[in-house]
Amino acid sequence: MKKIIVAGGGLAGLSAAVFLSRENYPVTLLESSRKLGGRAYSAPVRFIPAAGNSEIPELEIDNGQHILMGCYDYTLSFIRIIGSYQKLFIQKRLSVEYTDERGASHTLRERALIYPLGLLQGILSYSYLSAAQKLRLLFFLSKLPFIDPRKYDGKSVTDLLSKYRQTGKIYSGMWEPVTIGAMNSQPEKADAGLFIRMLKQIFLRDGFSSRIIVPAVPFRELYTADSESYIQKNGGEVIKGEGIKELLFNENRLTVIRTDKRDISDFDTLVLAVSPFSLSKIKGMEKVFPDGLPEFEYSSITGIHLALKEKGRREGFTGFVNSPLHWVFYKENHISCIISDSDSLINTEPEEIYKLALKELIERGLFKPSDFMGYKVIKEKRATFIPDSSNLSKRPVLKTPFTNLILAGDYTDTALPATIEGAVKSGVNAAEFIAGRPLI
Ligand SMILES: Cc1cc2nc3c(=O)[nH]c(=O)nc-3n(C[C@H](O)[C@H](O)[C@H](O)COP(=O)(O)OP(=O)(O)OC[C@H]3O[C@@H](n4cnc5c(N)ncnc54)[C@H](O)[C@@H]3O)c2cc1C
Repeated sequence: MKKIIVAGGGLAGLSAAVFLSRENYPVTLLESSRKLGGRAYSAPVRFIPAAGNSEIPELEIDNGQHILMGCYDYTLSFIRIIGSYQKLFIQKRLSVEYTDERGASHTLRERALIYPLGLLQGILSYSYLSAAQKLRLLFFLSKLPFIDPRKYDGKSVTDLLSKYRQTGKIYSGMWEPVTIGAMNSQPEKADAGLFIRMLKQIFLRDGFSSRIIVPAVPFRELYTADSESYIQKNGGEVIKGEGIKELLFNENRLTVIRTDKRDISDFDTLVLAVSPFSLSKIKGMEKVFPDGLPEFEYSSITGIHLALKEKGRREGFTGFVNSPLHWVFYKENHISCIISDSDSLINTEPEEIYKLALKELIERGLFKPSDFMGYKVIKEKRATFIPDSSNLSKRPVLKTPFTNLILAGDYTDTALPATIEGAVKSGVNAAEFIAGRPLI
């Protein structure tokens, strides 16, 4: 059996390693850092005490609360294989509560009818929109099956939404959360072709696809620990704290993988599942990309995590319309506020960002300052690449000029935005390429 090395313990690398392990390939996964998960990690963090509070015990938080969707086929299959499906909170029907600038709550809730009738009735009852706006939204959704995404490749989401008059409150209460949330990008930049493909997957397949799924436990419990034990149980190994530094080639084959600890030459194939930024630090990559490494433009995501004094009263999550905050997720001992596409905050002090979040939470009547013991702000500068036409054209395919070197990662050409599903799909694609057959 071919011996496979997977470099990178994010979702792309872990899913490649898990699917290959299931096929009995001997897999060694090398992760340069001390923890698995890549950008989707969880870790215990120390909170900064808010005024009037003293030391706060460490709490485990996710790096930015992640949302999954029912249409994440690859991810759900991966989660099932490692035995973690029951650790997901899966909505029974699509339901999203929004709070507006007056603090009023509006819920878009699919009703208990055959899909899509339940969604239609949910939209008709959505109090954020006027009757005319609801009709415009339904008109657009009724056209969606007939919109050819190829005609919109290279155009912006704004172009598309303006054409179908999905502006004003329809945009803020429906499409902004989707564009900013799933594409981490402003609609003026995000590619409309990709957006349409995504909407078709969410709304045109079945009721399950549009359901929102959130991890019920931190990422470590959800998938990193279970992936590691799955790989080990199947005879593979997971090595943390060992990263690839250089790749050496002979003709059309990769022959030596040089890590910061040793040279590895007894392998058949390397799945390189690291981000493009990390690729640029590996010697020898200029041979893999003779025309130059793809240079993506990124947008950031900021997570503001607030430690609760008392066990949380709320469950699930709330979307914010017309607010610098986009989502707030409620946990037992903390809440996580998410600001997507947050490059404007990169140089802002964490305390200022905390105050900004607090102000929004208070003004919308969700919390009072005394509810919190402290805060932790995490800015992820290169959270995802911006899915505009220029960046999309730079996405490499998994095959390289070297027959035993394969690329994986959310930046590769998966036809999906840089998401959990994109990362896992790239990992499964890499495993399928090695196995020579579909694995899902
Ligand atoms: C804050 C935040 C919120 C997000 N929210 C969502 C969301 O709600 N829904 C969603 O679907 N997606 C979301 N995403 C996107 C999602 O997290 C990413 O698309 C996905 O995690 C990328 O996985 P990856 O394996 O491709 O890359 P990475 O996670 O970057 O993994 C690469 C791994 O390679 C390791 N590595 C680097 N160099 C080397 C080397 N030389 N040798 C060995 N290992 C190396 C790194 O340490 C890392 O562990 C979010 C991302 C962020 C940052």
